[in-house]
Amino acid sequence: MTTLLPLPRIRTADPSAAVAPERALRDAYGRVATDLRVSLTDRCNLRCQYCMPAEGLDWLPRADVLTDAEIVRLIRIGVTRLGITTVRLTGGEPLLRQDLEWLIAALADLRPAPRIALTTNGIGLAKRAARLADAGLERVNISLDTLDAQTFKKLTRRPRLDDVLAGVEAAVAAGLRPVKINSVLLRGINDHEAPMLVQWAMRTGVQLRFIEQMPLDAQHSWRRSEMVTAAEIHESLSQHVNLVEDPADAARRGSAPAELFRVEGTEHAVGIIAAVSRPFCGACDRVRLTADGQLRNCLFSRTESDLRASLRAGATDEEIADQWVRAVATKLPGHGINDPSFLQPDRPMSAIGG
Ligand code: SAM
Ligand code: SF4
Repeated sequence: MTTLLPLPRIRTADPSAAVAPERALRDAYGRVATDLRVSLTDRCNLRCQYCMPAEGLDWLPRADVLTDAEIVRLIRIGVTRLGITTVRLTGGEPLLRQDLEWLIAALADLRPAPRIALTTNGIGLAKRAARLADAGLERVNISLDTLDAQTFKKLTRRPRLDDVLAGVEAAVAAGLRPVKINSVLLRGINDHEAPMLVQWAMRTGVQLRFIEQMPLDAQHSWRRSEMVTAAEIHESLSQHVNLVEDPADAARRGSAPAELFRVEGTEHAVGIIAAVSRPFCGACDRVRLTADGQLRNCLFSRTESDLRASLRAGATDEEIADQWVRAVATKLPGHGINDPSFLQPDRPMSAIGG
């Protein structure tokens, strides 16, 4: 991977200057993909239990990982030809990509300008949040499952809680609002912490979203009976705060996966993402590009479309756009986790991009 110096950036983007795309990424069920998730690397400096094994996971060969120029080209095709309006950079851990500031500045210069978001574990964000915001990053989701240093070490297998907390503070200070916090609860490890996490989020001025654990871990250890369900999370929170359903939220929700509840007496909202127990596939507007250039029309897809091979074989933008349209057209109606025939994809979450 080459390291490029960040470009100084003057914010002139007019993200609302939307131009009708030449073609829409429409599937057979009428859903249109506009939200592109791009994994920048499958590597990570944590080893969260629900995502990776303690050791033994092979990384993608470096030569297979897309260069910055290749990533920008593919995203440019998505944004200028195919109606992609939001780009979320993720991984693995995207902050491991040294030239992230440069990449974000390059994406912010596209026209029409996409909305640019980042999902990160927050390690290293303390130093970089201001520069990332300056480059054109608008929003950040930071993963944090516990406020207890020992539990953090057990759950992520690394003693880095303070780094993550410093990253959250820096993101808020850099104006990357709303800062959203993603939390996964594991039974017997951190599931008792849900109310504490809500209190902390209210004090810190961030929006907390609990995500049901999904069968996407590299070691295939997910068990439905072990999963802390959305209903359990709601029940646990309700013993400490009154959660009020906002009828307007359902109408506003659109493709957003989180069901939002207001903490009574405050303006603070808590999200619960019931990805397994109440799937929201019918409203999905996402498409994913892996770090090695494979297009996936669903997190749980068992097929991929190899954009890297086309790119490196000299395909034109038009040919790549055609391939992309065809790949989205075959998207299945749902993830199928609840079907007896469900098979977990071979590629783990860390190599897909969550
Ligand atoms: N490393 C970054 C991070 O942790 O935010 C970005 C990549 S990570 C794969 C993206 C999100 O996926 C994180 O919020 C993480 O908690 C979530 N995640 C990972 N494995 C998961 C699983 N098995 N079920 C539900 N969420 C998961
Ligand atoms: Fe790394 Fe994110 Fe997976 Fe945790 S969830 S191991 S931080 S990629």
